[in-house]
Amino acid sequence: MSDKYVYSFGGGEAEGSADMKNLLGGKGANLAEMNRIGVPVPAGFTITTEVCTNWYKDGVEATVAAIKPQVEEGVKKIEIVMGAPFGDKENPLLLSVRSGARVSMPGMMDTVLNLGMNEDAVKGLSKKTNNPRFVWDSYRRFVQMYGDVVLGMKPESKEDIDPFEEIMDQVKEEKGVENDTELTTEDLKALVDRFKAAVKKVTGHDFPTDPWDQLWGAIGAVFGSWNNDRAIVYRRLNGIPGDWGTAVNVQAMVYGNMGDHSATGVAFTRDAATGEDLFNGEYLINAQGEDVVAGVRTPQQISLEGSKRWAVLAEVSEEERAKNYPSLEEAMPEVYKQLVEVETALENHYKDMQDLEFTIQEGRLWLLQTRTGKRTGEAMVNIAIEMLEQGMIDEKTAIKRIEPNKLDELLHPIFDTDALQKATVLAKGLPASPGAATGKMVFFADEAVEWKAKGEEVVLVRIETSPEDLAGMDAANGILTARGGMTSHAAVVARGMGKCCVSGAGAVKINYRTRIMTIDGKEFKEGDWISLNGSTGQVYDGKIDTKDPELSGNFAKLMELCEKHAKMLVRTNADTPHDSSVAREFGARGIGLCRTEHMFFEGERIKAVREMILAEDEEGRRKALEKILPYQREDFEGIFKAMDGLPVTIRLLDPPLHEFVPHEEKNQAEMAQEMGITPEAVKAKVEDLAEFNPMLGHRGCRLGNTYPEITEMQTRAIIEAALNCKAKGIKAVPEIMVPLIGTKAELDLQNEIIRSTADKVFSEKGDKVEYMVGTMIEIPRAALTADNIAETAEFFSFGTNDLTQMTFGYSRDDAGKFLPVYLDKNILKVDPFQVLDQEGVGQLVQLGTERGRSTRPNLKVGICGEHGGEPSSVKFCARVGMNYVSCSPFRVPIARVAAAQAAIEAE
Ligand code: PEP
Ligand code: MG
Repeated sequence: MSDKYVYSFGGGEAEGSADMKNLLGGKGANLAEMNRIGVPVPAGFTITTEVCTNWYKDGVEATVAAIKPQVEEGVKKIEIVMGAPFGDKENPLLLSVRSGARVSMPGMMDTVLNLGMNEDAVKGLSKKTNNPRFVWDSYRRFVQMYGDVVLGMKPESKEDIDPFEEIMDQVKEEKGVENDTELTTEDLKALVDRFKAAVKKVTGHDFPTDPWDQLWGAIGAVFGSWNNDRAIVYRRLNGIPGDWGTAVNVQAMVYGNMGDHSATGVAFTRDAATGEDLFNGEYLINAQGEDVVAGVRTPQQISLEGSKRWAVLAEVSEEERAKNYPSLEEAMPEVYKQLVEVETALENHYKDMQDLEFTIQEGRLWLLQTRTGKRTGEAMVNIAIEMLEQGMIDEKTAIKRIEPNKLDELLHPIFDTDALQKATVLAKGLPASPGAATGKMVFFADEAVEWKAKGEEVVLVRIETSPEDLAGMDAANGILTARGGMTSHAAVVARGMGKCCVSGAGAVKINYRTRIMTIDGKEFKEGDWISLNGSTGQVYDGKIDTKDPELSGNFAKLMELCEKHAKMLVRTNADTPHDSSVAREFGARGIGLCRTEHMFFEGERIKAVREMILAEDEEGRRKALEKILPYQREDFEGIFKAMDGLPVTIRLLDPPLHEFVPHEEKNQAEMAQEMGITPEAVKAKVEDLAEFNPMLGHRGCRLGNTYPEITEMQTRAIIEAALNCKAKGIKAVPEIMVPLIGTKAELDLQNEIIRSTADKVFSEKGDKVEYMVGTMIEIPRAALTADNIAETAEFFSFGTNDLTQMTFGYSRDDAGKFLPVYLDKNILKVDPFQVLDQEGVGQLVQLGTERGRSTRPNLKVGICGEHGGEPSSVKFCARVGMNYVSCSPFRVPIARVAAAQAAIEAE
């Protein structure tokens, strides 16, 4: 670790740069970089993320002692560039103190603005600016923010409002005004006194007046906020390690609230919701940054085009728009022009969509932040492909820009058009994050989490959201807020999560105490169903059916790119012709796992299956199997047809038989009648089949080896289906897969049965088809003896669900009781049933592949556990040299992107 803790920037120079994100955090690195490329940025310095780690490791005192000289030096440099001394009586320098981790964690950590304010500073600045109202307003904001962030003055319970807001509301009521802007200088002075008195009452101490005390308090609070509850939740949801730490950015204040020639805003170089190449954003005249996101005043649009579009959505007439909500382009044309130059320069420099924060102080533009903008899945695809077509990035960069899991948003259902036509629109808000959501209303984030855990579908309804609501937003299908614009907390966070959100639906009135939402006099209570369209902003009454989405042209272009760059194929796990067709549309290159037993439950066939299981002897089983044969053959024909020439891996019966038998008395009686035996006999057989640990019991190839007639019937169904297809001119490529083997002998016996049955069918039909026999590798012993097994197996497919179960010794069915605790306590970083444990289970996968290929160099190897659709696991499979991964149909595009990224990363 270096002994440089503080990096200064300002006046067009910087000690840091954009490639120092790990040390300076994203914000600090970009503030430095903006200085380097000539963008106007207020001077400041960044305290490194290493200091945050020390803060927790070495303690506050030792850390402060180590960094103090450099922080003092940093402040001195700001004083020189800005021409104002910190703590000066006439012309005091005021500072902002903000967090900034390696990756942005919007709103999760703390910020203090206007730091350095005290009675002396107020006097000096009032004289200097000749604007005492502005100065007192800044002072009251400082006391409020510092009180909240550093001194811990927060609401006591979730139903309470902020203690400072409460005082503010009282003062406004006393003065008979509605907005803060209507308070006079005298009112603001009184407000500051009341704020300070509240601080003294709650904390027992006077509000700090010494600027240096204030600065160290704020630095400590920002470092402390790295480990607040909401930051921890956010890190867990986004896989951000707890030991990264945050940097602290200390910067000269600039003011958007110095009057009507001042403003503040946020902007995106392209549309973060759709990806459209349109500079857009929101601003407020005479305001500070938090006013734009707080949702108290309605923010105005930056460009004229954006403003006109907003007016249509918000149902505001052109006349009213131009008068009350003019765009920045109209209100401050010169500054707007400069801002467009800056945004173009930044996008060209970073070659990605940027999310900017800016302030205009008395007509002068300052950039406070630039970062890679968060975007929806749709925008992610559109921006990557359009930047490629605009020649800004190359094909590989375009692929690398895709977060595979985010494609999920594009693949999820939208409202069924017919159902939507019949639905009643209750209200209209802003289309903050696209998609469709339906669920029962809940008003509190923690309750959204509880309801979801009970299996309910919920929509979180709030006046506005705050970072505390994160876990609840994640649990909800969608989010509706009564207040807030397109850059409100709810909107930004929902877009990041890819979650449907309607914000700022002004007609929605919410009473947290009674748990009632009122729209135009109509009441809706907690638990009532509502539906949201995050693409239009509409709020609907009741539950609305959804359907599969249609994919845009850029999505297809992306898939083509992936096809070109990936070396590993993607297949699908599908058990029905319908799923097979869906997966083909998404580009699946075959079926990697068809679980035959899934068809057993359809319609009448379960009866025949039960008959087979309940039969007393082989003869009885054969009789029942004959009934199942035509069903199976028909299913396989359907699938072969859907896959038309692509390989189809069909797995022989796997689950323990107990899963298929009737457990209820009524069903047992029905079955007894069907088979002409007594209900007692059925009951006895069902009890006989029960196992203590069925997942390690009589299942997998153990079934086919004890009851060879099952394997015979399934082989016959597969081969006959393939021959029938051939007769119709459809090419079928069956790969017969034996499940759950642990020894070569287990596979050998199954192989013999399969091959002799196939030969029999070929000679009966006088025709042949090509087929393969292979096995799943899902028992550790099979992976360890893979060289042996490959003597018989023509292909391997890693069943990493069972392999994970057996390597960890965690029961797939019972792990739910302790896995969440293990994740909470950090005993496990991720759920190994979702993300392949590369360190442990991965060794078996790698070793099994290598040993198998040592016997049979051209051995085809794939994976068909759930991990086959999880990006980090897919990349691992590519590195191991697998021929394909197989996953559920809707994850096929995700796996295709991950496979292409793996190939690019390997170069
Ligand atoms: C597996 O074990 O990974 C697998 C794909 O099989 P199943 O989930 O059906 O046991
Ligand atoms: Mg398995």
